[in-house]
Amino acid sequence: MEQTPQMTWKCRECGYTLSAPQPPEVCPSCQERCEFIDITCYTPECSGPGRDDRLG
Ligand SMILES: [Zn+2]
Repeated sequence: MEQTPQMTWKCRECGYTLSAPQPPEVCPSCQERCEFIDITCYTPECSGPGRDDRLG
């Protein structure tokens, strides 16, 4: 069975974060079509090579 990778997204406008395979079309917080950035490897659970300690 193939699992859908869970990504972490953050709204650039309000900072709202959520985990989903892909970013939502409309930000649940802003109620607008915000730009979402992938912060998957910035979360504490991620200890991979892509981790950015500046955000830790
Ligand atoms: Zn937002």
